[in-house]
Order: sequence, then C-alpha cells, then structure tokens
Amino acid sequence: MKRYKLIPPVDELLKLDGIAACQDQLPPAFILERLRESVQELREALKKGMALASREEASSWIVEAFERRIRQMRGGSLQPVINATGVVLHTNLGRSPMPDAALQAINRLAAGYCNLEYDLEAGRRGSRYQHVEALLCRLTGAEAALVVNNNAAAVLLALTTLARGREVIVSRGQLIEIGGAFRIPDVMAASGASLVEVGTTNRTYISDFTRALNENTALLFSAHTSNYRVVGFTAETSLKELVELGQKNRIPVMQDLGSGILLDMSAWGLNDEPTVQEALASGVDVLSFSGDKLLGGPQAGILLGRRENIEAFKNNQLTRALRVDKLTIAALEASLLQYEQGDPVSSIPVLGMLAASQDILRERAQNLKAALDEQRPGLELKLLQVGDMVGGGAYPDKELQGWAVALALPDTGLEELNRRLRSGSPAVVARRQDERLLFSARTIGDDEIEALAEAVAAALKAVQTRE
Ligand SMILES: *Cc1c(COP(=O)(O)O)cnc(C)c1O
Repeated sequence: MKRYKLIPPVDELLKLDGIAACQDQLPPAFILERLRESVQELREALKKGMALASREEASSWIVEAFERRIRQMRGGSLQPVINATGVVLHTNLGRSPMPDAALQAINRLAAGYCNLEYDLEAGRRGSRYQHVEALLCRLTGAEAALVVNNNAAAVLLALTTLARGREVIVSRGQLIEIGGAFRIPDVMAASGASLVEVGTTNRTYISDFTRALNENTALLFSAHTSNYRVVGFTAETSLKELVELGQKNRIPVMQDLGSGILLDMSAWGLNDEPTVQEALASGVDVLSFSGDKLLGGPQAGILLGRRENIEAFKNNQLTRALRVDKLTIAALEASLLQYEQGDPVSSIPVLGMLAASQDILRERAQNLKAALDEQRPGLELKLLQVGDMVGGGAYPDKELQGWAVALALPDTGLEELNRRLRSGSPAVVARRQDERLLFSARTIGDDEIEALAEAVAAALKAVQTRE
C-alpha cells in the first residue's frame, strides 16, 4: 500500500506543466478523465512490481502517460504506418495503398454532391452500379459486372443468389480459409447453400464432380487457393474441365479468384497466378475478386459474369446491405482507369512495388542508410539482400529478391526499440530477424525515408535514455 502514497492528488497533478498546458485547448472533463486513466495506469504498474523512488518520479511518470494518451487520442486511433516489412499486401497494415488518382477522385467528389444515383442526361434517378460496370467490362471482356463491399461479400451474394437451399459442389482441396475468418464452408453455410465436398485434400478429379451431380445441384464452385500450395502428389480439376461439365449439365460455374490481376506480370517474375481475363476466357459464368489486393484499388468485391447472373445479384435484397459508397466507387473507377488509359505499373503503388528493380531497391536502401547515418552517426548498419513477399494471400511461396537496411544493437534491447518504433509517430513496423531489425526498401516510399530515419533516431533516444 505504501508505494501508492507517492502518487500526488489529482488537483496537484492538474497544475503540472505537461498537463496544465492542455487546459486552454481541451475540455476540462476530457483532461480529467485522461489524467485519472494515467494515474490508474501507474497504479497497475506499481501493482505489477514497478518501483518508484519519489513523488517527483511518480509525477513525471503520470505526465508522460498523460501526454501519450492525449497524443494518441488527438490523432485518432487510425494513423499512418511506415511499412518496412517488405510485405507488399500487408493485410494488417491496410493491404493496398491507393493510387494518387484514386485519392484525387475522392477529393474531387467526396466533399460535395455527385451523380451517384442520378442520371444527368435524363434528369432522373440512376444507378450507383452503372459507374464502373462498363469500364470493368471493357477491361476484362465480361458481359456484366457488379461491385460490392468486398470479395467475401461478393462470394456470399453469389452463393446465396444462385444456390440458396440447394447444393454447391467444391473440391476438398479448395475448402480454404483466408485471413480474417473467411472460410469457404462457413460462407457456404451463411449463404444457405449446402456444401458438397468431393475428392481429397491433395487430389480431385472431374469424375468426382460428375459423380456428385444431381437434380439439386445449383453450382460448381472453385476457390483459387491463393494463400497456400499443395505440393507433391496432387491433382486439381481445371476451370476448363469444370466449365465443360457445367455446360453439359446446364449448371453455372463460379470461381472465387481472390486477387484480381488485370495485368500480365510475368515480366516481373509473377506468372503463376491467372489473370482475370484468363479466368473469364475459360468460360466461367461468375468470377469474383477483390478491388484491392493485386488490383491495387480500394477495398471492394467485384463480380463479373453473364448478364443474367449479374442481374440476379443486383435484384437480391442482400445487395442493398453490401452496397459500396461513393468513395469506393470514385476510388475504384479512378484505379481502373489507370489500367485502361494510364501506365498502371507506375501509377498503382502495389504494382510499382512488385515491379521495382534491384537497382531501385538497392538505391533506396542506400538512401535510407545514409539518412540513418546522418541522424545517428555510429550506428551499426548494413545493406542486406532480403526476401520480400507479395502478401495478402497471394504467391505464398514466392520470395521477391529485395534490399534492406539491417540495424544491429549489440547490447541494448532490440525488442524495446521495435516497440518504441511501433508506438512512435509516424509508427514504423519493421522486420525482426535474429539480433537485427530490417527495414526493407520495397515497401518504403522515397518520400518516407526522412521520416523513417527520424523515427528510428527518436526511438533509439527514448530507449537509451530510459536505461
Ligand atoms: C482474399 C480472398 C477473399 C476475401 O476477400 P476480401 O476482399 O478480403 O473480402 C476471398 N477469397 C479468396 C480466394 C481470397 O484470396
């Protein structure tokens, strides 16, 4: 109990510099609440065994906790992060950074009114779905298209529209789970369709599908297993075989493609994932994929396919609950226009990062190293070749050769530095490898190098003064 006695009373704490300074900017009740939380935080730390020598130490601990809370709350909870992990589609870090053109479109449209659901020519109600449909069809050769909130929503909508109360046949090798609790069997259950599993984990033949067909079969479903590979003694039915079987029996075929690749990326060594155009050319009736991931636009779910199917999706009540807002439509349209009329590899950040040459990555790593040297001379820094990742469940076994700056801190806590970097402003997420922290050049913007070097210097300073 005695150790709590060192905590000054609240009215005294309110007069301390770091706290009094906020008083003409923030409401008194807000300040008081944050102060109480900070005091509580100190109590918890003391309970866990932290030692305090004096009242002054207690005060400065509380002021520091208070200032941290205010900083976090003023900036809001969602804040920018410098991604130094080398994982391009980092799901936990927001997946695809958006193209400039998308941001401009949002800027141009969001603050005012727009023709979201208004036909300007006819002067009457229009449809929000028409804005990107024609563009998607031009880009992919699809007959019709619909955009919903994300790919999980797209799959759910398609399954429930086409197969509610009926059977959907899926290969056991494709009963996948994607991060964020998207599991094919669970989505199937939520859609009201019954899942009929065929084949085995490693081998499924078209004859397995044929045997499972009956008058209650509504759909043949294929999920692109983008986030893992089955290697060794394997067989999977091709989309083409499924399409042939579906056509013969007048049963639609759907593929959940996961990532929507619109551009042949084989020049950059990324050639083992099918493009949207290739998947459609196989004759599949419905195709779904994400608007972000490798497409590189905003979060969205894109459904392509035969007009009758897409019309049925549009007419489903559920579509109203899954609909996209004007910001998504603006950003998606602008991103797609890059593919049709621009130079996507230079204007879609995700593609640029994947296509970045060794020279560019090495030079960026060198610039980062120089910036770090300048901020904190004498650091133990090294340029290093590293294996970067595509991420987002795509190309799981592919290492992209990249360059990183490695920082070693011989005796001091690397983990403490890592923690400080994550809680700094801007926050930095780096890659820990043995006794080094790696900053991978691929996912760091040229315009982030200075801020990153400053963040590392500030975090090092905080670590070292605490010791
Ligand atoms: C990523 C992915 C999903 C989920 O897409 P979201 O846009 O995150 O909803 C569904 N299916 C596959 C195959 C995926 O790769």
